[in-house]
Amino acid sequence: MARRPLIAGNWKMNGRKADGIALAAGLAEKMKASKSHSFDMLICPPATLLSDVAKAVAGTGIAVGGQDCHMKESGAHTGDISAAMLSDLGCSAVLVGHSERRTDHAETDEIVKAKAAAAHKAGLLAVICVGETLAQRDAGQTIAVNKSQINGSLPEGTTADNTVIAYEPVWAIGTGRVATPAQAQEVHAAIRAELAVKLGPGAASAMRILYGGSMKPDNAAELVSQTDIDGGLIGGASLKVADFWAIAESCP
Ligand code: PEP
Repeated sequence: MARRPLIAGNWKMNGRKADGIALAAGLAEKMKASKSHSFDMLICPPATLLSDVAKAVAGTGIAVGGQDCHMKESGAHTGDISAAMLSDLGCSAVLVGHSERRTDHAETDEIVKAKAAAAHKAGLLAVICVGETLAQRDAGQTIAVNKSQINGSLPEGTTADNTVIAYEPVWAIGTGRVATPAQAQEVHAAIRAELAVKLGPGAASAMRILYGGSMKPDNAAELVSQTDIDGGLIGGASLKVADFWAIAESCP
């Protein structure tokens, strides 16, 4: 089944107001100037910039997403943001279970699953992140860890329309150490096989699985040409218009 590649940018905690608007406007210009392209694009700025960025890219087809949401719709959760609030700001997607959230905020698969369910309930695309640490890879646990995170983090009602998986080996995030295309393909294929067991073969073959971890213009083409790699979740290189656009243009 042909899956349309998705190129997603995770800006993390970067960008003051002027920087964020300039970056979004630069991508909007590129998108408007591009007559045809083979990819979907999503950008996930910090929460403070969502409203301005959504305005800057309105009408271009670039989707805007949050970097996290709370599992509840409202209530006494100081500092948190609900999925419906993201939707109010113009978001159509949200990242859940990024390894930095799993580490910095002790997010378990159970929490990630509840957040993904909240995203679905609010009508948002949930980009569910999974990935092994270096210690787990060295211990030969890569496939088992990713399968277990898939099983633990996907809520009831997950479909290829409301969910995208991002495979992000923790050792490759922000380190400059990228997985080889063969290493990434092996895990993507294993994730797709697990999705087939969990959701059925139709959903598994339709669901997009992104690679994330030091993806750059010079390594993107080989990664996204792998059979089971359907785009990328990009951190550092998503902060420069030229780099992010070059990665997007490397999609088959
Ligand atoms: C990420 O944060 O999701 C990521 C992949 O970061 P980087 O591209 O900087 O490794």
